[in-house]
Amino acid sequence: MRANWRYMVVGAVLLVGANAAPAQADSGDPFAGAPGAGDPYYPMDGNGGYNASHYDVTISYDPPSHQLTGSTRIDATATQALRTFNLDYSGPQISKVTVNNLPAWFDRTDEHELVVTPLIPLLPGLPFTVQVDYAGPVTGTDGEGWVFSPSGGAFVAGEPHSASSWYPLNDIPTDKATFTLHATVPQEWEVMSGGDKVSDTVSGANRTVSWEMRQPVIGYLTTIAIDKFEFLEQRRANGTQLLSAFAPDALKAKDIESRLPEILDFQEELYGPYPFDVAGGIFVDTDLNFSLETQSRPIYAPWTDLDTVVHEVTHQWWGDSMSVKQWSDVCLNECFASYTADYLWPERKDGKDVDAMYRDTVAKYHDDPKFWQIALQNPGKGSEFTSVYYRGPLFLHALRRTMGDDAYFPAVRDFVMAHKYGNASMPEFRQFMQTRTPHDLTGFFAAWLDRTDRPADEFLYPGSLRS
Ligand SMILES: [Zn+2]
Repeated sequence: MRANWRYMVVGAVLLVGANAAPAQADSGDPFAGAPGAGDPYYPMDGNGGYNASHYDVTISYDPPSHQLTGSTRIDATATQALRTFNLDYSGPQISKVTVNNLPAWFDRTDEHELVVTPLIPLLPGLPFTVQVDYAGPVTGTDGEGWVFSPSGGAFVAGEPHSASSWYPLNDIPTDKATFTLHATVPQEWEVMSGGDKVSDTVSGANRTVSWEMRQPVIGYLTTIAIDKFEFLEQRRANGTQLLSAFAPDALKAKDIESRLPEILDFQEELYGPYPFDVAGGIFVDTDLNFSLETQSRPIYAPWTDLDTVVHEVTHQWWGDSMSVKQWSDVCLNECFASYTADYLWPERKDGKDVDAMYRDTVAKYHDDPKFWQIALQNPGKGSEFTSVYYRGPLFLHALRRTMGDDAYFPAVRDFVMAHKYGNASMPEFRQFMQTRTPHDLTGFFAAWLDRTDRPADEFLYPGSLRS
């Protein structure tokens, strides 16, 4: 995610929120799956008792009435005996739930909990399927689910929450699954999503478009966008197909997006092979205050510039292929996306003196306690998207200057490749980087990641940053 700068300034002065206690909600029933997976910031996200392996989402959407009709099939495996289990869902009214093709009881509790009780309890280790049918009008938001566009179209975006507004799921970064979408709209509209477009057929007054994400994905990285798009098709030298879409008032971004092959080449040199089959972007014309790294095809707001595209493409490695374990690990996503776009691209493409840039930034905020007050690791609920953008790039530049380029670049590439299609944490990152350098990084990491004040000079000015 990259916030529009005018919103980021507001974010920068937010105080650190109190951390919620880790609470794996426990009903006391040993045969009930936990209603939350216990993320310290969002304990009710995700669920216990099963792992999802595939989502097959069939929806129809009517732009004038905002009416959504959906049917989602989830393939999952029980990890414990389940008399009852939960899904995360906050969308329109549910008409029917089945488990293994048998009717199931259901109840909706709290903000996004769907409690499902199968007719026959589920056994540990066995696969099962859940089908949920639903219909009703969707509600527009400014970026936590459905967002309406000026043309009358709509799209879904939001981090960490948005997916539950259009399909039921296990909404937690650690339960990745493959994803298929079949979307039907009036034939004059187009549908975009992530992954491969496998069919696009018009029948009577309707168009049905199917999309397939063959690499596993997590909830907030899935999307659907319905608009009167224009398309840009490109191809990388290695054959990877690039499909990008532009809403009616977003056509000016075509120039930036035409550099996507070059941006992907640049990223591959840094972080290893691009992890997905296809790439592209979805350029909306709604005044959204963030752009978002939806998998293989980010959602780009109208203020998107080249720096934003480089940032969201970096996330395809840092955030999408390798995802956080908990939201307190968000520096793995945003510190890397910001450092790559703000420092590495200007350095390698424009020959910018990034040491000078670093020293200027540090000098500017040297005596501003607000700049340093939000820790990069475990920034606190509500502060995930603050210091990672402005303090994060400084941290990685200082780490690079401490380790040296010959150690730093192979190490970060190896780390992200080792966790391809999986998850990683900041403590794991710290441990891993320590194995790749003879320098003791204990004090450095504590100063940059844990502390809520300016790092001491020995950590602020390592190597060539000492001038
Ligand atoms: Zn980002």
